[in-house]
Amino acid sequence: RVKTKWATSLPRYPNTNMALQNFDAAYGLQLGRLWPSVRCGLLSQKKYGALLNNFCDHRAVVSDLQDQGCGDFVGATQLEAPISPMGPERGGVSEDMADSGETEKSHGGNQDSTPLSLSSDIKCFVFPRGDITRFKSARPDQSRLLSYYLLDAASVLPCLVLDVQEGHSVLDLCAAPGGKTIALLQTQAIRFLSVNDSSVSRTSRLKNVLHSFIPNHLLSTDRLRVTSLDGTQWAEFETNTYDRVLVDVPCTTDRHSATEEDNNIFSKIRTGERKRLPQLQTDLLLAGIKAARPGGEVVYSTCSLSQLQNQYVVQQALQLARQEGIHLQVVSLQPLVHMLSGTFNFAPDLLLGEMVVPHLTANFGPIYMCKLRRLC
Ligand code: SAM
Repeated sequence: RVKTKWATSLPRYPNTNMALQNFDAAYGLQLGRLWPSVRCGLLSQKKYGALLNNFCDHRAVVSDLQDQGCGDFVGATQLEAPISPMGPERGGVSEDMADSGETEKSHGGNQDSTPLSLSSDIKCFVFPRGDITRFKSARPDQSRLLSYYLLDAASVLPCLVLDVQEGHSVLDLCAAPGGKTIALLQTQAIRFLSVNDSSVSRTSRLKNVLHSFIPNHLLSTDRLRVTSLDGTQWAEFETNTYDRVLVDVPCTTDRHSATEEDNNIFSKIRTGERKRLPQLQTDLLLAGIKAARPGGEVVYSTCSLSQLQNQYVVQQALQLARQEGIHLQVVSLQPLVHMLSGTFNFAPDLLLGEMVVPHLTANFGPIYMCKLRRLC
């Protein structure tokens, strides 16, 4: 007789099944008819982008990528048309409207009327829609720097909309392993970059990534600071400081959770951690908002489809910030959606922010992003 209590060979319920069960319940409701196709994308081979390293002599690499049929989706966007302030459907949303779930279409008010400008000099190559060719690993150049960083191309978007300008000070609050930090540094515009991640081991990985892509003279302590602090407590350290803040929070990492057993946040022992995520995300976003100077801008991002981790976190943080006398404006990202809908699939009709959703012909994401401008 098998003592079921002790039998280690009994198949346990896989973490990926647990994740999918949760997703079916939550995203079936949230995404409706879109969910079966998004689910299929989540479970299929994901697509990468090659973030070009401007610190390398990459001419040969670019021509090789072009010969393979890849194109820089960022450059193509900027060539096509200027990014207009308003999409045809939605404009900016004031914090009051965001809190109450109402859009500007139904009420006038605190409207974002400045054009959406993007961080410059970020180049990311992708294979065309429907083409699932994989990139080769990047090779080091003569100075031993790697020519490109492979990542989900949609994760470049939060860095693009952060709109880093010449001379800016920038905080990357949850930075490891460093894909977005590398993207931000490609602008070569940052006067001072503060890079943080609470995990010591992941911070050490981040340092290795920095040394593989960025020349040593740009990593000096007067230009770059790497810390391993709890980002939720950042206000004890700095407030009202940065021109730009990226808050790329820990989340349910939906694609990973649906496909990988290891390090899966849907494992039973991580239930508490998973349930605490929206609170942690809100605390991190609020800390990021306080770290920005008045007039500064904050981008919140996740790689989850979950409304609870996306829109609701932003709404909650806006409300908490207002209670502390900090007022914010939500910046419309609709112009970006219009420009990039040939490359990415975006979820329709989000009240706050924009979200790239997986699709078999463009299997990037999920990536959610919302941009906030601190008014005071
Ligand atoms: N931005 C990174 C990139 O592009 O490579 C990915 C960041 S990942 C989605 C979220 C990160 O948040 C993890 O590396 C995790 O260690 C970090 N993290 C979790 N809790 C944190 C906290 N309280 N403060 C700062 N970082 C935290």
